[in-house]
Amino acid sequence: MKTVLKFGGASIQDAERIRNVRGIVQSYQEKEPILVVSALGKTTNDLEEILKQWYQQNPIWKTSLNQLLAIHLNIATALSSNASHALQALFGELESFLSNENRSKTFDQYYDHIIAYGELASTTLLAIYFQESGLACEWVDARKIIRTDNHFRDVNIDWKETEHLAKERFHTNKLYLTQGFIGATANGETTTLGREGSDYTASILSYCLEAKEMIIWKDVAGVMNADPKLVPEASVLSKISYREAVEMTYFGAKVIHPKTIKPLQNKHIPLLVKCFLDPSLEGTIISEATPQTPYPPIIVWKDQQVLLSIQDKDFSFIAEKHLTSIFNLFNQHRVHIHLMQNSAISFSVCVDANPRVSDLIKDLSHQFDVVRNEGMRLLTIRHYDESTIAKHLAGNEVLVEQRSRSTIQLVTRKK
Ligand code: ASP
Repeated sequence: MKTVLKFGGASIQDAERIRNVRGIVQSYQEKEPILVVSALGKTTNDLEEILKQWYQQNPIWKTSLNQLLAIHLNIATALSSNASHALQALFGELESFLSNENRSKTFDQYYDHIIAYGELASTTLLAIYFQESGLACEWVDARKIIRTDNHFRDVNIDWKETEHLAKERFHTNKLYLTQGFIGATANGETTTLGREGSDYTASILSYCLEAKEMIIWKDVAGVMNADPKLVPEASVLSKISYREAVEMTYFGAKVIHPKTIKPLQNKHIPLLVKCFLDPSLEGTIISEATPQTPYPPIIVWKDQQVLLSIQDKDFSFIAEKHLTSIFNLFNQHRVHIHLMQNSAISFSVCVDANPRVSDLIKDLSHQFDVVRNEGMRLLTIRHYDESTIAKHLAGNEVLVEQRSRSTIQLVTRKK
């Protein structure tokens, strides 16, 4: 049975960390590992910047691309690796694509095509370095396995085809190394699974191959009950249920991509979150079992939220027929709702601030008056108590509040 190991950008940001990852991988060699790897360090952000420059026809994109290549080459040199040729070829391919492209496709299509080079480059470098240092592994192009539809940047997976392709490709007990985050349509066009999507790739492969376990390697000791940058007394949760993990990540806990849990839960595959800086730490285990001790309060802040208040233009009650047309528009524009609440004549929703919201508002405005409040933060506390709420709300004004027995959610802004 396979073990799927996922390494994010921070775990491979420089030569020393790549050596460390190699050591971890070696210690899992008996466990039929499949490695799912992100782009190096902040490469994805750099590529987004290059794409923006290119799209705006700013010739600086070439310099930026060369700087990014230099970062990769420096790491290869520090590893005494001969990966330079392969990296130069890959970046050369991207440069000639951008130089010759007639810009007939959508921005999102270009996004997926270009941003995918981050993961292609990191895995090329790692595979060559592993081979050279005596760790035999096979590089696999994830675009030949992860089959998606063509909702570029926010794809849906073709599970049947992906399962078929994965079973066919990963059929031996060798060490395989592939890219997180990227896939392709049936026509072979590159797609991406959304930012931070490598966790999801690892979970898709775990599902398709019925892995024994999946391990995400992070720079923190495990899943914590709050972001330690915001809450210094945050502590590691040694065991949590799939349900708890889904609730936390859906509302913004950044430790795991929210889509990661479902495929694992469906096949009862445990997920471990471990620290690549100290693999001897136990980390967090996420599985079916609910821990025996009660959960502490779990605090999740989600930044850059927008609160929309939607009202019929003629002061009608917000009735089912309104909600149907409102939800249809949210679905069409692929704007995901994090919290909703209605009064007699108004319907309020909290969503991520992203460019699609403006188009949505334009469409909603044919029938409704829409008030848009920017700069909101959504605070979710699971297993709350009054003192925890008071402590975390200090200095914030509450615009919307919603409570169930286990969860409180508050749309807030700084006073
Ligand atoms: N490299 C991609 C990102 O930074 C995907 C990932 O790391 O999970 O969003």
